[in-house]
Amino acid sequence: MMDKKQITRERMDRTLECALYYISQGWPVLPLHTIKGGHCTCPRKKPCKPGKHPYSPLVPNGSKDATTDEETILKWFGGDYDVNIGILAGKESGLVLLDIDPEHGGNESLKKYPKLLLTPSVKTGGGGRGAVEKGEIASSLRSSQ
Ligand SMILES: [Zn+2]
Repeated sequence: MMDKKQITRERMDRTLECALYYISQGWPVLPLHTIKGGHCTCPRKKPCKPGKHPYSPLVPNGSKDATTDEETILKWFGGDYDVNIGILAGKESGLVLLDIDPEHGGNESLKKYPKLLLTPSVKTGGGGRGAVEKGEIASSLRSSQ
């Protein structure tokens, strides 16, 4: 059985591996707070979006501090900080994210746009998924209507 330190080390290595892949695609990334024991690691007393908001000690300007600089990525995700990883969507990365919420008919709506079923996606905390499309999602949506 693996001990906790080994599991954490492997998770950090995986996070760094993903961060390096993302910047190789030209997608700026930033460190986010993560979730431990079911709770966000941020010191906020108020409710937050667990594991989804910038890790302010490293990125005081939030998403404006996202980067594709490899040296910075090695510092952020090299193992000194227990952080989640975020990709900056929008014109900087050319990525558009679409939140598909199954509790509000998201899966049925998605069927109207078959091209989106082929895009990479990520699992979301709410049990849905986010579709990721490089650049052409807007025209894809328009042409599917
Ligand atoms: Zn938080």
